Amino acid sequence: MSLPRLRTVLDTMPSYQPSEGVYASERRPRLLSANESPHQPLSGITEAIARAGATVNRYPDPGCAALTRSLARTHGIDEDRIVVGAGSVALLQTLFQAIADPGAEVVHAWPSFELYPVLAELAGVTCVPVPLTDGTHDLRTMADRITPRTRLVVVCNPNNPTGTVADPDELARFIARIPPTCLVALDEAYFEYVRSPAVTNGLEYGLAHPNIVVLRTFSKAYGLAGLRVGYLVGDARVTRRLRKAGLAYAVSAVAQHAAVEALVLQEQLMRRVDDTVAERTRVREALLRDGWAIPASEANFLWLPLGEDAAAFGQWCTHQGIAVRAFPGEGVRVTVGSREDNDVFLTAAATWRTTRP
Ligand code: PMP
Repeated sequence: MSLPRLRTVLDTMPSYQPSEGVYASERRPRLLSANESPHQPLSGITEAIARAGATVNRYPDPGCAALTRSLARTHGIDEDRIVVGAGSVALLQTLFQAIADPGAEVVHAWPSFELYPVLAELAGVTCVPVPLTDGTHDLRTMADRITPRTRLVVVCNPNNPTGTVADPDELARFIARIPPTCLVALDEAYFEYVRSPAVTNGLEYGLAHPNIVVLRTFSKAYGLAGLRVGYLVGDARVTRRLRKAGLAYAVSAVAQHAAVEALVLQEQLMRRVDDTVAERTRVREALLRDGWAIPASEANFLWLPLGEDAAAFGQWCTHQGIAVRAFPGEGVRVTVGSREDNDVFLTAAATWRTTRP
């Protein structure tokens, strides 16, 4: 029997299956696989959600005016530089669609955020992945791979899954080599966890360049992963056109109100981020003491470069009731969670090292 015809790319492109089986399993594992905040929402947030819940017979504000105003005030930038989306994945999708002329290419590092190739292929954009060197973006090679067809370069800083950051001087030299007709997306989903002073703040740096856009999210440090809100900052002449490419009404009223409240409660939320950063240091030091080689991370996760053992270690963690993210043949990414969950992970990792053949 013939089946309906769909685009052939859907047969060949990779599918994104994060936390496979986690949501369906009867006993919820400890969730250290999706780089979420381990904290439950503050009461101010749940109250904002309840208030917005009472309005859901109406469509949300498609322009996200109140949230855009709060973001503009928070960052000291003009409102017209901001585009709000249903998570930064939605904004990435918008970006890929916005550059997807026939033959368009995107240069990105690999391994990096797994949705870059998925969204690119879906939009008909050809991926040019450039392997990391020593766990960081090889910016020189990435610039070398730019051709007249390159319409977008993505730099994930800090990089998911390694947690590493780009050297600011190298990043500046790299950006100077990008033609002004090519967009550069600085994906800063984990920016709030950065503690090293030598890290580029895309919002301070990128705004001088009309071809740079910066992506931020409420899913990590702000603890709103379940509501799907992210934002993009760029030149107003670019953001005006990107807004047209986004899906109308994609950001719910509940999400918009909760995000506005999260900005009101920013100080309290950033203290939670400080706790996660302290846990990051504690967990990394414990792993280093046990003999693991863990790169310094500026994000809310750590990278275990296990190579061929990655899949087996991922399964081992699953058996111990812990969801982590295995990248077969490369390594395992573990989110820095609550102290209790981190301790369970440390025990599992130590047992693996001592009992493995
Ligand atoms: N960028 C990076 C680098 C990420 O790791 C993630 C989430 N894992 C996202 C973007 C998407 O985040 P969200 O859609 O929840 O804002």
